[in-house]
Amino acid sequence: MNGAPPTRPWEHATVVSIEPETARVATFRLRFATPVDFLPGQHVVVRLTAPDGYRAQRSYSIASAPDGGDELDLAVERLDDGEVSGFLHDGVEVGDSLEVRGPIGGWFTWTGETPALLIGGGTGVVPLMSMLRHARATGGDARLLVSVRTPADLLYASELRERPDTTVVYSRVTPPGSMRPAGRIGRDDVAALLAPGATTYLCGSSGFVEATSALLVELGTDAATVRIERFGPS
Ligand SMILES: Cc1cc2nc3c(=O)[nH]c(=O)nc-3n(C[C@H](O)[C@H](O)[C@H](O)COP(=O)(O)OP(=O)(O)OC[C@H]3O[C@@H](n4cnc5c(N)ncnc54)[C@H](O)[C@@H]3O)c2cc1C
Repeated sequence: MNGAPPTRPWEHATVVSIEPETARVATFRLRFATPVDFLPGQHVVVRLTAPDGYRAQRSYSIASAPDGGDELDLAVERLDDGEVSGFLHDGVEVGDSLEVRGPIGGWFTWTGETPALLIGGGTGVVPLMSMLRHARATGGDARLLVSVRTPADLLYASELRERPDTTVVYSRVTPPGSMRPAGRIGRDDVAALLAPGATTYLCGSSGFVEATSALLVELGTDAATVRIERFGPS
């Protein structure tokens, strides 16, 4: 896998399944007319058009790893009053068609050239999940540090809990028997996972990204080895 594949023109993809991940996040599996070539970390844009012609579009990261097939997974969090996320959760059913453009993004991608430290907050784990799944499928070196508020907020729990390549930090409520008290990702959590030659991928809300990149600076990480993607305003 070398450079990023070209972005395809707007096209229609069929929603082939909608599966809840948590109370607020669901995975939407989309099937395209032809195989979709993408890199772990890339995203697509989903465009909605109302009957009166009003349009809204939002970016959603690809959660699945590239496999040469014609399907990919998005994970969408329902935001209170969210225009597009609300419609996707309440107005879209299996069999519906969505207008999609992608894949997009050439910087926030990882294909295994260096070890990867993946740090995600909330739904910021979505593009990192594509990278982790790719690493697991190809024997690549990726470690994931993910922060969620409570155990019920952990996406992909069956793939992430108690796995040697994954550390889950609970900021408000920990699962029973947890050794680490509840709290945000701290210096020690990051320091334990830093590895020479690794590229760090950081994704989440602006606040999460700012706090975690400050920790990386404190720990002396070379800024040139850190790649950041921000999902939203808070
Ligand atoms: C590259 C990229 C990849 C993304 N990938 C994902 C993804 O995989 N899954 C996902 O669920 N979202 C993802 N997002 C965020 C997504 O694009 C939308 O911003 C989000 O779904 C909100 O859109 P909305 O129309 O529902 O809300 P809006 O109607 O735009 O906003 C509703 C309210 O929520 C606030 N808000 C907007 N966006 C966010 C946010 N991200 N977090 C918290 N509050 C917000 C607004 O300020 C407003 O108050 C990604 C964003 C980018 C830039």
